[in-house]
Amino acid sequence: MNLKENLQFIREDIENILIKSGRPSDDVELIAVTKTVGTEIIKESIDLGIKNIGENRVQELERKMDEIGNKVNYHMIGHLQSNKVKYIIDRVHLIHSLDRISLAKELDKRSSTNNSIANVLIQVNVAEEESKFGLKVSEVLPFIEKVLEFENIRIKGLMTIAPYTDDEILLRNIFRTMFKLKEDIVGRKYDNLTMDYLSMGMTNDYKIAIEEGSNMVRVGSGIFGKRNY
Ligand SMILES: *Cc1c(COP(=O)(O)O)cnc(C)c1O
Repeated sequence: MNLKENLQFIREDIENILIKSGRPSDDVELIAVTKTVGTEIIKESIDLGIKNIGENRVQELERKMDEIGNKVNYHMIGHLQSNKVKYIIDRVHLIHSLDRISLAKELDKRSSTNNSIANVLIQVNVAEEESKFGLKVSEVLPFIEKVLEFENIRIKGLMTIAPYTDDEILLRNIFRTMFKLKEDIVGRKYDNLTMDYLSMGMTNDYKIAIEEGSNMVRVGSGIFGKRNY
């Protein structure tokens, strides 16, 4: 794999999709998903301009934050166990995977102890896949209203992981549902909540996600090559 070429390809591709959609060419934030990728290669990607790193496991995220330091923003994109919140709170820029009140409670507790704010996205499992975490679409509004009671949490948007498929129509419907949900939430004008980010789109489906309104994509293998677990 050639990191520089991959990155250049993805960036140009994203810009072209945006321009075709009539949006500003910098309207999407690219998160480089670095799970299983070694620190040296991550540092190379940072030298090539990567500003956001995404990890889905707390231990790996912690180790990489220690080794790489503060020159990038870190995103927790995977399922987060409440007992691991203490290891990453105050070190991550954004948690993409808030999906239950028990986790909100822990995030709020740890943040208020530190006098800080936890920035989160609500994870939505639009396709209601058994294998994935996240709320059903119908559960999102009541969930948000509960989370708004926690003073040390700020909801910044929504995140979804679409099924791994090449069924374009299915993917488009999922992303469109997310966009509509976001617009619905914006229309309700809640205090202390913004819908800044719609985190959707991975290597397999970022094109469709952006066409349907994503402004934050999480790309791993498209940048770093196929993962070896
Ligand atoms: C692994 C992962 C990605 C990136 O997947 P690729 O197909 O390699 O681009 C994005 N989001 C989440 C939550 C992931 O776990």
